Amino acid sequence: MTVVAPSKIICVGRNYRAHAQEMGHELPAAPMLFLKPPSAVIGPDEPIVLPPESTRVEHEAEIGVVIGQRLCRADEDQARAGIGGFICANDVTARDFQRTDGQWGRAKGFDTFCPVGPQVVSGLDWEALRVIGRVNGEVRQEGLASDMHFGIPTLLSFISGVMTLLPGDLVLTGTPAGVGPLAPGDVVEVEIPGVGLLRNPVVSRSR
Ligand code: ZN
Repeated sequence: MTVVAPSKIICVGRNYRAHAQEMGHELPAAPMLFLKPPSAVIGPDEPIVLPPESTRVEHEAEIGVVIGQRLCRADEDQARAGIGGFICANDVTARDFQRTDGQWGRAKGFDTFCPVGPQVVSGLDWEALRVIGRVNGEVRQEGLASDMHFGIPTLLSFISGVMTLLPGDLVLTGTPAGVGPLAPGDVVEVEIPGVGLLRNPVVSRSR
């Protein structure tokens, strides 16, 4: 059961310095945007299904922003006011295809590659948020929103200058360092203290 039904999911690449470094990249001069299809969304406890075509699927624990009101060419104050709430999100990625395809539509777009949940929490100060990624109970990722290269109001303002953000749309704000592979049988968690804990098992595709 998913708690969001976005018209689109906009993701931000390389938004934490240590993650950009671990991937061998510089920080971008402007927010680096890509999209995930809404069909990739799953809810808490639903399985992440590893596609047989990929040899390396990785977790990316992220702070998700759910848009509360329409934003079109919004400035940062309007963008801040347009935040509907926050949600735990996992930008699951087929790292092999991300490297070889030249664009990221396939790597980021497989069914089940966008776990979100368990609920949308509003009224929080984005700069105080922290995201933790765990695999089988072991902490692999930890990031502070205050360490983002582009903060959340800046991101929303920038995105809304490209595409109008509609209520319910989802923005994934980038992942901190520590991404790594998932295997069948793993349990992956994304926790944002004060927002919730999203847990998903990992399975291989049976057919
Ligand atoms: Zn990501």
